[in-house]
Amino acid sequence: MYKYLFGPVPSRRLGISLGVDLVTHKICSLDCIYCECGKTTELTLERRAYVPHEWVIKELGHYFDNHPDPDYITFSGSGEPTLNINIGRVIDFIKKRKPNISVAVLTNGTLLNQKEVRNSLLKADLVMPSLDAAISSTFKAVNRPHKNIDIKDYINGLVDFTSMYKAFRRKKSSLSDENKTFPCQENNASCSDSDDKTNSLGSDDKAASLKFNDKLLSLNSGDKASSSSSDVNFSVRNGKIALEILILHGINDSPEDLTALKDACIKIAPDVIQINTLDRPGAVSGITPASFNELEQIKSFLSSYETPESESDGDNPGNDKSLNVEIIAAGRDRKKISSYREDMESAILETIHRRPCTADDLSKVTGSRITEINKYISTLEQKGEIASVKQKRGVFYHTVK
Ligand code: SF4
Repeated sequence: MYKYLFGPVPSRRLGISLGVDLVTHKICSLDCIYCECGKTTELTLERRAYVPHEWVIKELGHYFDNHPDPDYITFSGSGEPTLNINIGRVIDFIKKRKPNISVAVLTNGTLLNQKEVRNSLLKADLVMPSLDAAISSTFKAVNRPHKNIDIKDYINGLVDFTSMYKAFRRKKSSLSDENKTFPCQENNASCSDSDDKTNSLGSDDKAASLKFNDKLLSLNSGDKASSSSSDVNFSVRNGKIALEILILHGINDSPEDLTALKDACIKIAPDVIQINTLDRPGAVSGITPASFNELEQIKSFLSSYETPESESDGDNPGNDKSLNVEIIAAGRDRKKISSYREDMESAILETIHRRPCTADDLSKVTGSRITEINKYISTLEQKGEIASVKQKRGVFYHTVK
């Protein structure tokens, strides 16, 4: 029984996913009003070894020695993983020991204004930060941040990280299969918190990246044709940044809020923006999810913008650009939307069939956000395939025979 590893979840199409939790419940830099992990008990910006990285590495080493390789390892859990000062060391360990395994990080992104945090995530294959508001008052209302988080610094951190990560991935993919030293960092710093100063990318690493790229294919309608032969469905490709925005009806969806969010998104320039909403209106009292129609309108609003004259191509002034936006939440028709993953549904069923779990447990096991998990729980409840029972640690879900 591992203490810091969760899963893995075997599933027909997802492959094998292993979760890693680097902070204990519930340490976070935010205390979001929609957080379904419960209230933040330690609201902090202090980076330290909340979980000793040696123990996590020991568990990973034991796992690697005794189990088949998972397809990916995801840093998530019920708190902010970048608060652990050694996250870079753990990522480095995985990439050195098992370069064929891809690493994903789910983060609220509030610490990305720190250079050492940006550096520590560069080797991750998938980074999924979030941003729910770009106006200070709304940010405070929705995310109830630590008092020292400034919304401008937060957004600037996302801008800096995205630009640095894209440059890193571009350079990485342009390297040949021969070993080459990669000067990846700001100010030529090392690639992470680890002792790895050379960041040599061997053929194994590149082969692993290519292998996983084959698996990570988009569910965007535009990419559907290419995903038809894939084992694994993700709504973003490997090596990309997916920015999640969670919309709460009447709270962060005013025209002013959406315009500020759009401006921030244009600056951040993530590879994809994923719009989400609460999936279970009853989970938090007093807040309601956005309707699917509203999410579609927001998607349309965020998707296109006119290039400012100062940035426009001289031959084609005023040329419209677009942001890649997708909806990852839906109401009654969620099974009809492209991001609904039958494989995730199977993974949840397989997991709780063996042992009843809370939504938080499932989030750790699958490496998905709780808001994402809840949409599957709701659907399975509606279909009568699962039921819940309230216990001391929370609401547990089990299969219905
Ligand atoms: S939703 Fe995520 S970022 Fe917000 S309080 Fe919960 S764990 Fe922290």
